[in-house]
Amino acid sequence: MSSFSRGALFHQTFLKERWKYGAAIGTTAVATICAFSVPIVIQLFLDTVFGSEPVPPFALLRTAVDAVGGVATLQAAPWYGAIAIVLLTIGNGGASYLTARLTATAAENGARRLRDRLYRHLQATSLAFHSHHATGDLTQRCTSDLDTIRRFFAIQAGEIGRAVALVTVAFPVMFRLNRTLAMIAIGSVPFLVMISYFFYTRIQSAFLASDEAEGELSARIQEHLAGIRVVRAFGRQRYEQDRFDRDNAAYRSITHRMIRLLAMYWTVNEGVAMLQLGTVVVVSAVLAQNGTMTVGTLVVFWMLELEILWPVRQMGRILADLGKANVAAGRITEVLSAPREEDDPRAGVGGTRTPEITGAVRFDHVSCVYPDGTRVLEDVTFAVPAGTTVGVLGPTGSGKTTLMMLLDRLFDYSGGSITIDGVELREIDRRALRHRIGYVLQEPFLFARTIRDNLGLARRNANDAALFAAARAAAIHDVIERFDHGYRTAVGEKGVTLSGGQKQRLAIARALLMDPAILIFDDSLSAVDTHTDAQIRAALAERRAAGDAPTTFVISHRVTTLAQTDFVVVIEDGRVAEIGAPEELIRRNGPYHRVWALQKGGEV
Ligand code: ADP
Repeated sequence: MSSFSRGALFHQTFLKERWKYGAAIGTTAVATICAFSVPIVIQLFLDTVFGSEPVPPFALLRTAVDAVGGVATLQAAPWYGAIAIVLLTIGNGGASYLTARLTATAAENGARRLRDRLYRHLQATSLAFHSHHATGDLTQRCTSDLDTIRRFFAIQAGEIGRAVALVTVAFPVMFRLNRTLAMIAIGSVPFLVMISYFFYTRIQSAFLASDEAEGELSARIQEHLAGIRVVRAFGRQRYEQDRFDRDNAAYRSITHRMIRLLAMYWTVNEGVAMLQLGTVVVVSAVLAQNGTMTVGTLVVFWMLELEILWPVRQMGRILADLGKANVAAGRITEVLSAPREEDDPRAGVGGTRTPEITGAVRFDHVSCVYPDGTRVLEDVTFAVPAGTTVGVLGPTGSGKTTLMMLLDRLFDYSGGSITIDGVELREIDRRALRHRIGYVLQEPFLFARTIRDNLGLARRNANDAALFAAARAAAIHDVIERFDHGYRTAVGEKGVTLSGGQKQRLAIARALLMDPAILIFDDSLSAVDTHTDAQIRAALAERRAAGDAPTTFVISHRVTTLAQTDFVVVIEDGRVAEIGAPEELIRRNGPYHRVWALQKGGEV
């Protein structure tokens, strides 16, 4: 199994925005310098301009004082100080705004890239992967988890930069002002780091549990909405509601645990930070009183301490969000690590050959075991000449659908060989193969788009003539024409509701439009009434007479449908029970005969 690391995820999405993050570091530095300059300007005025102390020991400050004409000028015009503070505050605000904007844009772009990648990957993973993952859970990974990561990069990435800048600028300044007090001021930092790390590991596991519970809840909602008709029809709202309530309560209590942890963490963190602030205030007051320190230095220290305490306190939030983002990234990389269909051993490694496919199919001792160990097909052998029509009959669960899915390479056969026109199926490129197989599924799926768009899935640039011909052959053209917007009528959730039979006929038209070499009707004809069934079969027979016939597999229980085929394969328990022309099978007194006798009896 290929694996996709968090590092690679970061590299291919957010790190692509590195110049924006680089610019954000620049603006953060500007904002920090502005923020720290304010208390120093205040110190200059308190100690030097209004007092008798020398200019505080900062080269930049000395240059600025000299530039305006020395301390004497400031004494004559103290409002220079006010202007300086206003300008510095504007500088701080403007630079902080730019930082926020840059990081938010970078995060948005990174998130878009990641979303694209995820969607593309989900399109490429095998059917085996999808049959083992709940749709709702995958949706949650693509939305909520992705948003957790986006939020981290939009907000906390900037905060990390700010914290680093504040700390790297503040400590040297504080040390220069008063060594003892500086040591006290940073005394709590190691404790805060330890406390944060302790909680970080716990919050991470709490968040993973909460996130997984949310995924289950999403899956439950998705499944409920998808199956709303069944729920209503069986009057199971109460039951479903109870199940949802249970999941919802579980989610709440797991999330509650995380919130309790966070609350405890904030309290401890704030307590230590405030203790620290209190110590600095008391010690500096004593130092100022006994004359070791000027009042200006004392004010600067308090202001700086407040400035650096903010990111230090913020560190907890950053770590908590980092923990969440890490969990979310893990859940996303798990999806991105799922092998693509062509590399997935469960789907069978894909070939590269693109032979001309005319439709001669041969199953040779084929067996199939599903990834979960279910043995479905065993020793299936029969050949289908190009252009013939094969009926497939068998009880539910005997493996008919599986056999057809193997032909379309939706799952891989475990033993034996399947060839099309003499070429082993595994050697053929999947796309090229599926391009030539029209598969009408047992439960047709239509997208909530127009009829034309749904048909266009088979052949994007089909012209009206081709579209109408396919729809006529599927006995649906007249129905479509009667709709207000004809082929532009929207179906499904956004438009008209089609009957089961109509949906099935649209799906048949879609498959016919592909002009396939192999056509598979998976019980599709049983969903339409016998008259329409006959109409569709007549249209197919017409094509066949014109020498333009695909090899057709018809899975059906209806003997009238099967009677029209060239031969019938009867599958029982994953094995070929009998095989032969329908009229021959009637004479044989086997399983086909039994079904025939039952239905004839019914008709009589
Ligand atoms: P039929 O089309 O004849 O009704 P299927 O081919 O759908 O039969 O199913 C044959 C058997 O394979 C059934 O027992 C079914 O439970 C099993 N099966 C189908 N799909 C899967 C799957 N994805 N994983 C495991 N078992 C499966």
